[in-house]
Amino acid sequence: MNTIIRTQDDALAWAAAHAASLNEGSTHADDAISVLGAAGFFRIGVPVELGGTGGSTWDAAEAIARVAEHSLTAAFVFWGQRCFIGYLLESDNEALRERSLPALLAGELAGATGLSNAMKFLSGIESLSIAATPEADGWRLDGKLPWVTNLRRSGYVVAAAVEPTDGQPPAVVAFFADTPGITRTDDLQLLALRGSNTAAILIDGVASGAGELIHADARRFLPRVRPAFLSLQCGMSIGLARACIGAAKASGSAVRAGLQSRIDALEAGLAHAIEELKEGLASGSFAEQAAPLFKVRIRLAGIVRQAMDLELDATGGRAYLVETTGEFARRWLEAAFVPVVTPSLTQLHGELVRQAALRAA
Ligand SMILES: Cc1cc2nc3c(=O)[nH]c(=O)nc-3n(C[C@H](O)[C@H](O)[C@H](O)COP(=O)(O)OP(=O)(O)OC[C@H]3O[C@@H](n4cnc5c(N)ncnc54)[C@H](O)[C@@H]3O)c2cc1C
Repeated sequence: MNTIIRTQDDALAWAAAHAASLNEGSTHADDAISVLGAAGFFRIGVPVELGGTGGSTWDAAEAIARVAEHSLTAAFVFWGQRCFIGYLLESDNEALRERSLPALLAGELAGATGLSNAMKFLSGIESLSIAATPEADGWRLDGKLPWVTNLRRSGYVVAAAVEPTDGQPPAVVAFFADTPGITRTDDLQLLALRGSNTAAILIDGVASGAGELIHADARRFLPRVRPAFLSLQCGMSIGLARACIGAAKASGSAVRAGLQSRIDALEAGLAHAIEELKEGLASGSFAEQAAPLFKVRIRLAGIVRQAMDLELDATGGRAYLVETTGEFARRWLEAAFVPVVTPSLTQLHGELVRQAALRAA
């Protein structure tokens, strides 16, 4: 990478210039984390005494939104990196934090969250996919993570939940790319977001001890980190929706006149969802009650869909011609990811129904 990145605006300009490449292939896959790290993006919402620049989880979500306006691939690896940083902030394992946090904040080490399986486990959808067999000074891990993003070839650390074979509670552990027994597959052949370093990880006889433990009880840890996990994801939707609405507003005045009421309604809906997100994060209420956060995530996914339709309607036939489609085609594919990322909309709807049934009983 030849570009010198000094400011967040430099990094945003880089993301905009390389958005198509990041979406279509792996040419710039290993640069995104370095660029965002050099601009200080990963320090947002991290306490100053731990190397951050302070601020809140909302500030980090808003930063992801700013990146997502230009490239959802860059925003998605930002999300993975920032989630992992959040796990270290919530962990009691000071040694692991001291070992990894400085390099993660600087964007020199990639942090990946292999916790979709664990989030689905928490909702009773899946069993954990990594077995932990007790050994003299820790566990032997065996299993597979079929989808993990931000597995930068030059080095990464992944968080995953493991299921002890002796009936102890499931735990959350970290493992590093160079740990013997870890194999990263080739990149998965994705429809889009192909520069996200997304692959599977095979875990074969990996030694794991106190040094790698993020938390001894996944059932207590996951609900604690879930508000940030989901809110940072919401940042991706917010940024993408803003980009689509912005493109629609940039269309000719005659077109815009016909679309103005939809533009206004979407902007109002987006502002309202953002307010709810900020409020729930600031008050800490999402940690007590997940349902309102699930609903915001569902609403934002709906807003992205409508904003995408709006951009299509505003662009018209030009959207369908390769030479004039502009950023529309990329965003259309990026948007298809929003309902799929765990927790998927299907899963969230299911969880809300389950919680309502529990309350009724
Ligand atoms: C580009 C990309 C990157 C990814 N990166 C990561 C990553 O970094 N880390 C990571 O851990 N994962 C990652 N994933 C994995 C992802 O988030 C999902 O876990 C994965 O797509 C497979 O699970 P699924 O829920 O989509 O599929 P399935 O389990 O086949 O489920 C299909 C659908 O039904 C829903 N569903 C299934 N069972 C139930 C039920 N009992 N109740 C309600 N709903 C149910 C699911 O939520 C989903 O919507 C990534 C996926 C993609 C596409």
